[in-house]
Formats: sequence, C-alpha cells, structure tokens
Amino acid sequence: MDLVVRCPCGWETQGPEEQVVAAATAHGREAHGEEPTRQQVMTMARPATGWSL
Ligand SMILES: [Zn+2]
Repeated sequence: MDLVVRCPCGWETQGPEEQVVAAATAHGREAHGEEPTRQQVMTMARPATGWSL
C-alpha cells in the first residue's frame, strides 16, 4: 500500500513505504537541516488510498 507523507512546510511525497521514508529523510536533511528518524516519518505518514474526502 502506498503512503503519503506531508511535511509541515507543505512538501509532500507519495509511494511505497521504503520510498517515502527515504524521500522524507532526504527532504528533512536538505530543506530543514535535520534528518527525521524512520519513526518520525511514519508518524506523518497516511495511507494514500482513502486520503481524499
Ligand atoms: Zn519540509
């Protein structure tokens, strides 16, 4: 199942878990100067299906 991860800054990524974790980790490092842990990324993750109302 694909996941959606949305950063508080408005950045968003969607894809398989491994992909969104990698992308969000890189985003945190490059955009915010701080790498989120896998657990922090998963806290922000939501299932891609059924996300929109
Ligand atoms: Zn961000």
